[in-house]
Amino acid sequence: MALADLEITPAVATRTLAVVLFGSPGSGKGTQAKFLVRWLGIPQISTGDMLREHVRTGTALGNAIEARMKAGSLVPDHLVNELVFERLRKPDCERGFILDGYPRTPEQAAEMMRVLGASGATEVVIHLVVDYNIIISRMAGRRVCPVCATLYNAISNRPAKEGVCDLDGAKLVVRADDRPEVVRARLDEYEALTRPVIDFFRRAGVKMFEENASDQTPQEIFEKIRTDLAASGLTELVGK
Ligand code: ADP
Repeated sequence: MALADLEITPAVATRTLAVVLFGSPGSGKGTQAKFLVRWLGIPQISTGDMLREHVRTGTALGNAIEARMKAGSLVPDHLVNELVFERLRKPDCERGFILDGYPRTPEQAAEMMRVLGASGATEVVIHLVVDYNIIISRMAGRRVCPVCATLYNAISNRPAKEGVCDLDGAKLVVRADDRPEVVRARLDEYEALTRPVIDFFRRAGVKMFEENASDQTPQEIFEKIRTDLAASGLTELVGK
């Protein structure tokens, strides 16, 4: 059955803020999502983290997508859509939520707008714009904690002890899809499939902020995002 045929009723109420963090791999979406969670008190919904968790725990979904994820290819739209909409039904999403890594194709964006439109949520897109060369060097130095998924970076965000997670002491690893040859494939796929989502949002008249995320610290980038979001008046939806 096509997803469009399903009656999807996320928990989102009429006064709900949907923050979409948009940007290429390595643009810092996950880092900014964490700042936003702390500020706005609404959950981060990271499709990458959710999909990796399915792979790690060996669910049917995880087994079906493992090869694609390791190769840096996108997971089919209908699987990701279902995962996100199921998550949105949880009560902690009622006031708002932060979408990190979703939507990633115009088809996902259309489905998201359809479902959120029906539930009366207001979308705002934060587009993190980063220079291509900076992305390549960032991703080469990226390490992740296999236990809590915290990201570190050899240049900008080192752990206190080399190679060890600050939070739980686990040994940091290189994510399978952060190997250089896979990074190229992910960036190519971003250009071909994901970048067109920006035009989709423009045509749909969604409020969008472009943020220079190349050469400032994560904190500075967040301050700019906070200023823009507060000025838009939309954060009143979550009492900020
Ligand atoms: P990054 O933003 O650094 O590429 P993510 O953790 O967001 O990393 O995504 C990792 C992988 O998870 C992607 O390469 C893709 O295989 C899969 N994935 C995540 N989100 C989506 C999505 N919205 N649609 C399709 N595949 C996705």
